[in-house]
Amino acid sequence: MTERQTGRLYGVGLGPGDPSLVTVRAAELIGKADVVAYHSARHGRSIARSIAERYLAGGQIEEKLVYPVTVETTDHPGGYRGALDEFYEEAAARLAAHLDAGRDVVVLAEGDPLFYGSYQHMHKRLAHRYPTEVVPGVTSVSAAAARLGAPLVEAEEVLTIIPGTLPEEELTARIAATDSAVIMKLGRTFPAVRRALERAGRLEDAQYVERATMAGERTAPLAEVDPESVPYFSVAVLPSKVAQLSWTGQPITEPAPDADTEGDVVVVGTGPAGPLWLTPEARGALARATDLVGYTTYLDRVPARPGQVRHGSDNKVEAERAEFALDLARRGRRVAVVSSGDPGVFAMATAVLEAACADPYRSVPVRVLPGMTAAHAAASRAGAPLGHDYATISLSDRLKPWDVIAKRLRAAAEADLVLALYNPGSKSRTTQVGAARDLLLEYRAGDTPVVMARDVGGPTERIRTVRLADLDPTQVDMRTLLLIGSSQTQAVARDNGTEVVWTPRRYPE
Ligand code: SAH
Repeated sequence: MTERQTGRLYGVGLGPGDPSLVTVRAAELIGKADVVAYHSARHGRSIARSIAERYLAGGQIEEKLVYPVTVETTDHPGGYRGALDEFYEEAAARLAAHLDAGRDVVVLAEGDPLFYGSYQHMHKRLAHRYPTEVVPGVTSVSAAAARLGAPLVEAEEVLTIIPGTLPEEELTARIAATDSAVIMKLGRTFPAVRRALERAGRLEDAQYVERATMAGERTAPLAEVDPESVPYFSVAVLPSKVAQLSWTGQPITEPAPDADTEGDVVVVGTGPAGPLWLTPEARGALARATDLVGYTTYLDRVPARPGQVRHGSDNKVEAERAEFALDLARRGRRVAVVSSGDPGVFAMATAVLEAACADPYRSVPVRVLPGMTAAHAAASRAGAPLGHDYATISLSDRLKPWDVIAKRLRAAAEADLVLALYNPGSKSRTTQVGAARDLLLEYRAGDTPVVMARDVGGPTERIRTVRLADLDPTQVDMRTLLLIGSSQTQAVARDNGTEVVWTPRRYPE
């Protein structure tokens, strides 16, 4: 006696709704299956079945897998999750019984079976036990873009697919950080999705697609959609900006010359280096700007975008740069003033606000977006030297007299604060580090740990810990930040040969 062969399991994608978008392979399998299974809500109607209907052979066994719950309220002891798990187990057992009896089972899936699909719950439970094939389908992502007739992503653009069920803050961050997006699972989530698009500054780019390729299809600019009218079967789309630009010759961000759009200035910090330390909010602001203004070295860190104008300058005359940015905004441009690190720490935010508080700029909208400051990145590399109270001081005497710097160093030293020293030296300023070291040695032991952090996060990063008495000014330049320990700061070698520096949170009585 040979053991009877089991049936085969097929997860079959049906595409977005129009039955002519079912693949040839899917149609074939649906027509041949012994059993056709599909999920449905308690009302019993199945969109998947209606798409597949014309391919059914007649006389096939149909397994309707009816969800016990659709919203997150239930009296199941395991809650919503528990009710669902139990349902999936039962459904998988029903399909397994057919497969054991040698019957081929097709599980219908709207769109693609492995893309937010109910089929996945069957797949996880059955695919390792039975021969299984998944047939891909056209997703709602592709269908929505096709119905809008709008390119989705071009060149280096990133597409983010976002479930609308995420918390609003998370939605906002994801939208702000991406180029193109498709936001799925609208319906009750619509008001939060709309607010997130607005907060990320992308509401005017957003398109709405309901029931793409199905009866009752609707497309509209998302801002015009009545939230009460939005069903689950709809998506929001942020199409390609690059494509839009090359069609129209106008960047999507470009205000029409005669429109009475109000320009604005946003002061953005890019973090100490690289995209890992660029916040989603800052990334979004850089993407939306029509004009970038800043020191060329910092502008070079921002990826080029078609249609965006860059106004690079040297590192001097901050006031002129600020007025230049405000003038652009007065002409209706959306201007991002770019600083490294945090724009409020020894950087452009002050200059912009100073100018914005005087005529003729008093009514230009200005916002400052935070960034990670160099001291925090440097501290993390060394350990936790800023774990207790600390003071931040710039050693540059270009904008304040050395006397003031020396007085502040003394006061901070006397108070036993850890020190984060920005702008310690440059080619033309070579004396400050030695002078600061000698002054601090009047208050601190020679073996106080000093973290010398150069180009943190950049390609030439170098972090060293030295004793205060050994601090060598020739090893310090404009790309270096110094963290000087307090009397409590420890530098300790660990077993793996690395050294960590930290300042205890408890101070001795
Ligand atoms: N707004 C910036 C600071 C500008 S002042 C911020 O918040 O970080 C410039 C000084 O910042 C430099 O002289 C150096 O001391 C420090 N700095 C900035 N980026 C740095 C990095 N990646 N590594 C080490 N120091 C850095």
